[in-house]
Amino acid sequence: MTAETARATLIDGKAYAAALVDRVAAASARLETAHGVKPGLAVVIVGEDPASQIYVRNKGETTQRAGMRSDTHRLADSTNQEDLLALIAALNADAGIHGILVQLPLPAHIDSAAVLGAIDPDKDVDGFHVVNVGRLAVGLPGLVPCTPLGCLMLLKDALGDLSGLNAVIVGRSNIVGKPMAQLLLGESCTVTVAHSRTRDLPDLCRTADILVAAVGRPEMVRGDWIKPGATVIDVGINRVPSRDTVKALEGKTRVVGDVAFDEAIEVAGRITPVPGGVGPMTIACLLANTYTAACRAAGVTPEELGA
Ligand code: NDP
Repeated sequence: MTAETARATLIDGKAYAAALVDRVAAASARLETAHGVKPGLAVVIVGEDPASQIYVRNKGETTQRAGMRSDTHRLADSTNQEDLLALIAALNADAGIHGILVQLPLPAHIDSAAVLGAIDPDKDVDGFHVVNVGRLAVGLPGLVPCTPLGCLMLLKDALGDLSGLNAVIVGRSNIVGKPMAQLLLGESCTVTVAHSRTRDLPDLCRTADILVAAVGRPEMVRGDWIKPGATVIDVGINRVPSRDTVKALEGKTRVVGDVAFDEAIEVAGRITPVPGGVGPMTIACLLANTYTAACRAAGVTPEELGA
């Protein structure tokens, strides 16, 4: 095998996500024509955090591009919990809104768990409500967190049947690691979840046919942690100084994943790049979840969109 053919195939999350948004848009248009229901997503943001403002703007634009109703509620940093809960209650009662997303993090004076817990589970398009966490754990239909759902779609597209494969997930957060484990268990993988207390992490990673890195540590997973031919899903989004010294001194940054990409691409069979891998899938899956919630509200079975 030549060095060139040994390099991993890139999993193009950007292209997959664009196609998924198109499929959601087409399915949503059919839902509206046949049943008079236009999927609606409400995004609530509290405060002025610049990164959150960008995320929210992108979500609004993509939602509109998909032909859905998009409402954005921008609240002042000083908003109190009572007012926020009153808005959530109003959105829960609004029949034209099928998905509610509260942008995190919320200001420190607000109890995030209480706010997320107040969202109607059937409109909880982030999939963070304990009811949806429970549904996922017991295999009932619910709403699944967008990032792991996107990872699963990419894996199934790349590998087809996942049953019997060894999956190692590095990271056990409620928004990525744990739901990823549930989803892969649901696909009959043999799943191991690693975290900061895991012993011999490189050895463990080398057992993985599927390696999902969701850690938040730039390029922590090295090439020699990867089993040759494995499929690597890099969820990490980390800002590090630019490679260019002058630009770095000017404070310019670049984005890297949790996997040392240049090393990993020489060993893995398939790998998601950062950027352009998992990231674009998250927002596409948000729209897919909003469409699914709208179908259920209309008493219609959603068309299969991916995972
Ligand atoms: P969290 O900080 O919530 O969780 C990180 C996990 O990594 C924890 O379980 C932690 O273990 C584990 N961990 C930390 N250090 C180590 C270590 N040295 N060895 C092994 N495990 C370790 O992060 P998130 O899950 O929210 O996010 C993970 C990454 O994914 C981040 O880079 C984030 O930006 C990115 N992300 C990307 C998204 C996308 O759209 N592509 C969406 C969401 C997140 P412990 O539990 O023991 O502390």
